[in-house]
Amino acid sequence: MAFERRRLGRRGHALVPTALEKEGFSAAFTERSGGSSPPPFDSLNLSFSVEDSPGNVRENRVLVATGLGIPSFATAEQVHGSAVARVGPGRAGAGFADLDSRIPGADALATRSPGVGLAVLVADCLPVVMASSRERTLAVVHAGWRGLAAGILARAAGLFESPAEVRVAIGPAIGVDHYEVGEDVALAVAAASPAGAVTERRGGRVHLDLAGTARAALRSLGVRRVEVADVCTACERRRFFSHRRDGPSGRQAVVAWRPA
Ligand SMILES: [Zn+2]
Repeated sequence: MAFERRRLGRRGHALVPTALEKEGFSAAFTERSGGSSPPPFDSLNLSFSVEDSPGNVRENRVLVATGLGIPSFATAEQVHGSAVARVGPGRAGAGFADLDSRIPGADALATRSPGVGLAVLVADCLPVVMASSRERTLAVVHAGWRGLAAGILARAAGLFESPAEVRVAIGPAIGVDHYEVGEDVALAVAAASPAGAVTERRGGRVHLDLAGTARAALRSLGVRRVEVADVCTACERRRFFSHRRDGPSGRQAVVAWRPA
């Protein structure tokens, strides 16, 4: 199985991509249960950018880091753009304990340093982990339709010298069943990659397949070893936050690192 559901701390769960683990990289896609936050952030909200109290978020983040056996993880501002920021030991844990110290202007984080945790926060957008053991390089990417249209996957793939060596895990995100978009959105996403956009017509409406689109775009970049969790955040109310479903809600995360 490509993803294994494991306990996270005493009450939570996370999905772990086992193919990445075999390559020497650890990653966990968190679920929403087991945290301290009240509705609508119940309960393992990991974002300081929603209206949850910072104390709850800190408590939840410590719970996740402790459960994974790492001291902290770095986070980015996430502006729905295509910028990738490199994180060395000097910026380890940036943004972990407060909003102000997060890495500005980026939607993807990359590192070559062992033990440096990286995270992106999502609630429908794609959480993507890219890693190459040969190049000892790890990246996490936040990709919604705007990020895909801005070319963030090509930017992230550009971190690696040999795309064929890269392994990718795409976690829970909004599924094509729940993701109706405007024609303009589908066109903007399609224009960003020679692979175009993967869409479905349902009752005359356009639905965008974010994960399918990402997989096709990665293939066109020479990245073929892609595992998709194929779990819809909007369908799985008890396990995941969904912005499309809930409006104000918490954020889950993917946290990834290369064990020292
Ligand atoms: Zn769904």
